Amino acid sequence: MSKDKIWLSSPHMGGNEQIYVNKAFEENWVAPLGPNVNGFEEDIREYLFSSPLAGGREGAEGASVAALSSGTAALHLALIMLGVKAGDEVICQSMTFAASANPIVYLGATPVFIDSEKDTLNLCPEQLERAIKDRIAKGKKPKAIIAVHLYGTPYKVDDVHKVASEYEIPVIEDAAEALGSTYKEQKCGTFGDLAILSFNGNKIITTSGGGALITGTQKQKEKAVFLATQARDAAPHYQHSEIGYNYRLSNISAGIGRGQMEVIDERVGARRKMHQFYVDLFAGIRGVKVYSEPNSNYFSNHWLSVIEVDKNATGGITREDLRLHLEQENIESRPLWKPMHMQPVFAEAPFYGTGIAEALFQNGLCLPSGSNLTDKERSRIKARILSCFSK
Ligand SMILES: *Cc1c(COP(=O)(O)O)cnc(C)c1O
Repeated sequence: MSKDKIWLSSPHMGGNEQIYVNKAFEENWVAPLGPNVNGFEEDIREYLFSSPLAGGREGAEGASVAALSSGTAALHLALIMLGVKAGDEVICQSMTFAASANPIVYLGATPVFIDSEKDTLNLCPEQLERAIKDRIAKGKKPKAIIAVHLYGTPYKVDDVHKVASEYEIPVIEDAAEALGSTYKEQKCGTFGDLAILSFNGNKIITTSGGGALITGTQKQKEKAVFLATQARDAAPHYQHSEIGYNYRLSNISAGIGRGQMEVIDERVGARRKMHQFYVDLFAGIRGVKVYSEPNSNYFSNHWLSVIEVDKNATGGITREDLRLHLEQENIESRPLWKPMHMQPVFAEAPFYGTGIAEALFQNGLCLPSGSNLTDKERSRIKARILSCFSK
């Protein structure tokens, strides 16, 4: 049996990326601006707001996209644009990648972490409301809410946004993992007051590294680009009345992104097929739950397929047994994100929850989900999983 590494999620080029990159070289647009940056922004905007499954949300005509150097940079700018300052509090889903929470600390603000609910693994609307009430009672109303569509599955958009609007707190939608997912046929990345995407190497499409900020208005986009290009005032010399950043996306990277946007729907289709592969495979294995959309309002890109292992029903086989069993065959799998409130660096941060994220971290596993996995690789994965549970 081949022992070549099977990755959790690896880059998958469509073929035309190099044409865009070569064009950038031919025209000497080797800079953090140029035709690929503008074209990539327009590709994303079209995809999110103009396709049949897009927003149709009110005011979507003004919606704009700023291509940035990373999803983390996009979150940092989103927080700045919402006026978050030192000493403020910002609510954030606990079960997520650290990049969702780190920019809060860049600004000297404090993250307040919220548990997951069990249907989507995302922000629990009840704990969210409990936290907001308690923070207000303690004297500080949270400045913003960061809600994440983890592993591509939309969070409970209606419920979360209902609480947010009741308390008039803006939502930053972290759609880093959810390009191509929809909720009630509206694309993820179009729900928040601001939203972010990531094009890191392991995401559903990649620019090798990159991100985007989705804004409701053209004016907000201009502000984001201003901040991302060192906040230069309109003057012939270099003049600054605000602190700026170097966060714009390179025209070379954007060229990769243009090629990737040509194949986004195929990539979503392939990830969803991987998820169905696991649904079929685990149908015959007791004690393993494959996470799927809770109902037909949700459409996940299934960036990563997620299972939960109940050792009481598997005859004692744990998540970690399976992970190690796969690793011995050079097949990568990974526990779910370790919740932020369990991270040493966030030990002091407030947390509102009932242990759901903790249990998911204990028993959950992400399985190889790449859109470029071959039938041969699927056979290897299947054989190895079956052999773990037939012991
Ligand atoms: C990847 C990711 C980010 C950060 O994106 P980068 O482009 O890697 O900076 C933020 N949030 C979530 C949930 C992510 O998965």
